[in-house]
Amino acid sequence: MIRVLIATSNPGKLRDFAGAASPLGIAIESLPNFASIPTPAEDGLTFEANARKKAEYYSKHAPEEIVLADDSGLEVDALGGAPGVHSARYAADQPHLVGNNTDDQANNARLIRELRKIPREKRTGRFVCVIAAARDGQTLSVHRGQAEGMLLDSPRGSNGFGYDPLFFFPPIQKTFAQLTPEEKAKHSHRGAAFRHFLDWYLTKN
Ligand code: IMP
Repeated sequence: MIRVLIATSNPGKLRDFAGAASPLGIAIESLPNFASIPTPAEDGLTFEANARKKAEYYSKHAPEEIVLADDSGLEVDALGGAPGVHSARYAADQPHLVGNNTDDQANNARLIRELRKIPREKRTGRFVCVIAAARDGQTLSVHRGQAEGMLLDSPRGSNGFGYDPLFFFPPIQKTFAQLTPEEKAKHSHRGAAFRHFLDWYLTKN
């Protein structure tokens, strides 16, 4: 059985990865001792820069293993792509400063405030996920997934995490917070990026 190590402590992300991997008979494990490893600053200007940085850093803590790290976020077109790489700290006074993460509820409240200034039909956006795979401090490959949707100004659904309750996905007329882990894996940016990783992995091994 293939085992993939993921450098995250975010239970929502782990659930998403497991949802994408389990139908394929792949085991997802959190990096051993992840919680005791100091976190690197997520100061990159792009999702890719942050994903590479995290994967390279954490892979040094698991010699000879392939370690995956993802960086992800929400881009809202009418907000110039915000919150973007600052998605995890959108409610902070200065979201561009690293180490300032704010909780999902506060981030969603800020997004709702911003959305109310935008006409409904212009509230288009996408989730983006970039996964980097690294071994012994070197990036081996980078994979990107996206999901296009519309942003709501009131939450719907109680599954998922982050901005999921505000992200309406037109093809199935549900928000991401109304999906099971398996459904989210099928439609989400993280599921898509993970499948691109697997295509790469399975052709290399
Ligand atoms: P990071 O990738 O750990 O830097 O954080 C990304 C942030 O983007 C999270 O804290 C969420 O706010 C948001 N985000 C990323 N992926 C998702 C998702 O699948 N659903 C909802 N929010 C997400």
